[in-house]
Amino acid sequence: MQEEALEGKVKEDILDILSYCINCRFCLPSCPRFEITAGNISEGASGITRSLYYAVKWGETDKEILNELRDILYSCTTCRNCEIACKNLSTGTKLTDAIEKGRQLLIEEMIGPMPQQRKVLESLHILGNPYEVPTSKRKAWLRGLDLPGISKEAEVLFYVGCTAPNDFNAQNMAMAFAQLLKKAQVRCGILEDEICCGSPSLKMGERGLFEEICEKNLKQFKSQGVKHIVTLSPHCFDTFLNRYPQEAMQGIKVQHYSQFLADLIEQKQLIFKTRVEKKVTYQDPCYLGRYNDVYDEPRRILNSIPGLELVECSRAGADSLCCGGGGGRMWADFDAEVDRLANIRANEALETGAEIMVTACPWCLINMVDGVKSVNAEESMKIKDLAELCAEAL
Ligand code: SF4
Ligand code: SF4
Repeated sequence: MQEEALEGKVKEDILDILSYCINCRFCLPSCPRFEITAGNISEGASGITRSLYYAVKWGETDKEILNELRDILYSCTTCRNCEIACKNLSTGTKLTDAIEKGRQLLIEEMIGPMPQQRKVLESLHILGNPYEVPTSKRKAWLRGLDLPGISKEAEVLFYVGCTAPNDFNAQNMAMAFAQLLKKAQVRCGILEDEICCGSPSLKMGERGLFEEICEKNLKQFKSQGVKHIVTLSPHCFDTFLNRYPQEAMQGIKVQHYSQFLADLIEQKQLIFKTRVEKKVTYQDPCYLGRYNDVYDEPRRILNSIPGLELVECSRAGADSLCCGGGGGRMWADFDAEVDRLANIRANEALETGAEIMVTACPWCLINMVDGVKSVNAEESMKIKDLAELCAEAL
């Protein structure tokens, strides 16, 4: 009965959110998912949400049609380009909220997520991370960062996130940030029993699992007296800042590491002495830029590195092209796609004449390393994380 009421509420919310859409399609050209498909309207922004709207409105029960809807809904990277376009040009419809709720509905009806994503949710449920990394391995890796465990004396909790213990490139990113924390003599600590922030479950529509994870993390933060969280990933940053209950997070400052580094530089706790004579371009992560308006800090950091020349891609800032990894897309591929976003982005980065593309997100980092490889540009374009570049400039 409770489940039925919940389902009814989710449906009501979807219809309510999408009632603002006047189907003008101004959002369609901004949708990166639409850009990499053959031009079928249902493969992009308003087409995705229109399919959802009518499935809910007509009480669709046909399994085949619902499976089609699942493929359409889970193909979205949740980059939020469509919402910005709609806000600027039309009615301000909250497309990504509707998409997330649509996924929640499909999970309730045991149709979602995508088959490849099921083991991600299982792993989150059993191990507390989406990559099936055993707890002992994760703990051992975290110890390698050589940072103390969180204590009441620590000013900052460095929340490492799940990707670093599972991926070589993200490991370097975490190590570099740990090096910067030590250099700036920040009194910080890590959670030795760290679990996921819950973002993958939330974005795939598994709201119940997200709430469980959220509760566990809040308990940890409270028992350790955490007052300031600095995350490596923009996804953890956005989740703690905007998706955890505000009341429970009161008194806890949340920052992405780029914001924290920008502060350290401004306060002269971090000084770059080594010249980096390189032409560099920057990849704005969606959950840093479009979700939280953090465009300036990473650029300020890059501009403070002596010798470095920052050049922008043709699409930058709020317009920036998604790497393709958000919204659960790190774990799902779709047949209908004729290109990969990371490959298109790698070519855009190459057009700037930059030698390095800098990212500030473990998923952007992984996808862009792949993208550069796929377009055979490994020799001319290196992909680095912002923390790595900062560590080189010390
Ligand atoms: S721009 Fe907004 S109103 Fe127009 S189709 Fe897209 S979501 Fe609907
Ligand atoms: S969030 Fe991004 S990928 Fe999803 S529909 Fe909107 S523009 Fe397209």
